[in-house]
Amino acid sequence: MHLRKRVLVTGGAGFLGSFLCERLLKENCDVVCVDNFYTGTKRNIVHLLENPYFELIRHDITFPLYLEVDEIYNFACPASPIHYQNDPVQTTKVNVHGSINMLGLAKRTKSKILQASTSEVYGDPTVHPQTEDYWGNVNCVGIRSCYDEGKRCAETLFFDYYRQHKLNIRVIRIFNTYGPRMHPNDGRVVSNFILQALKNEDITVYGDGKQTRSFCYVDDMIEGVIRMMNSPEDLTGPVNLGNPEEYTILELAEKIIALTRSKSKIVFKPLPEDDPLQRKPNIDLAMDKLKWKPRTQLEAGLKETIDYFRTL
Ligand code: NAD
Ligand code: UDP
Repeated sequence: MHLRKRVLVTGGAGFLGSFLCERLLKENCDVVCVDNFYTGTKRNIVHLLENPYFELIRHDITFPLYLEVDEIYNFACPASPIHYQNDPVQTTKVNVHGSINMLGLAKRTKSKILQASTSEVYGDPTVHPQTEDYWGNVNCVGIRSCYDEGKRCAETLFFDYYRQHKLNIRVIRIFNTYGPRMHPNDGRVVSNFILQALKNEDITVYGDGKQTRSFCYVDDMIEGVIRMMNSPEDLTGPVNLGNPEEYTILELAEKIIALTRSKSKIVFKPLPEDDPLQRKPNIDLAMDKLKWKPRTQLEAGLKETIDYFRTL
């Protein structure tokens, strides 16, 4: 008889996964972190290794995994365009084979399973802000498709396991999230701009910088993730989680220059293929069902993130 809830976090050595492991340990869970270190790093979880209730397994979830657990958070998947485009076939595999393996594990152990899906399932959205009932506008043969279609197929698998095998599933769609432990080299806009500003290098705005994103601080995101897993039985989702405050990329660049008191100049570079023009979550569902909304203002979250990048 075990007293602590045994929780598996796939991708637990990544940016979001490592904060999730920390939070679950604080809630007295027995945490198993599974990661193949494709984009994650031991540095993110080294401080947890001494904890007797934390266990690290180096494993690629595209291969089967046999464990006994009560809950699964499926976060394994490279998240930044540079990383997921580096080996696009593996990106589709982790979302399809990886999800099938984790769903099979959930079925055998009768555990609850949460999928970290993404706002990318909406593609370059024609509905703004994006609500969960919008089906999206996704290119299936572009350079982002391995991730977008992979994540869409993962959602399909989750809902088919729910309908066919009565699995207890949770699907969240995460919008751009930032904070300490973001990879310095993953090419994402927040990490790129902060590093460039700290080094007084040119800030590389892609396109005209009028495309928009909405940035959620990591602590707020983790709170939403936990609430979703603990929500009443019938809330399968999908549920959007993100910060609805929308900024143009140019506004973000200017904010980061001001906060770092940088001498950097803004330069314009070509817009990558299939780069969505706008993105902003409608979070009515999360506010209503999870009583959740982000609390961290962009400036406060950026300051924390800048402080982290200064230490690197
Ligand atoms: P991340 O790259 O830091 O973390 C992903 C982790 O998964 C890494 O530790 C990596 O090594 C691991 N991993 C990759 N392939 C694996 C495999 N085959 N087997 C085992 N482990 C594997 O990214 P993140 O930002 O922490 O994102 C975590 C999850 O959240 C991802 O599923 C991502 O798609 C989703 N998400 C993140 C964001 C965001 O803004 N950060 C937005 C939407 C969705
Ligand atoms: N971007 C930018 N300069 C950079 C990195 C990104 O202008 O150095 C832009 C990118 O083209 C996109 C936005 O910032 O429009 C967010 O990019 P990111 O890769 O962070 O996330 P995603 O496109 O997946 O939302």
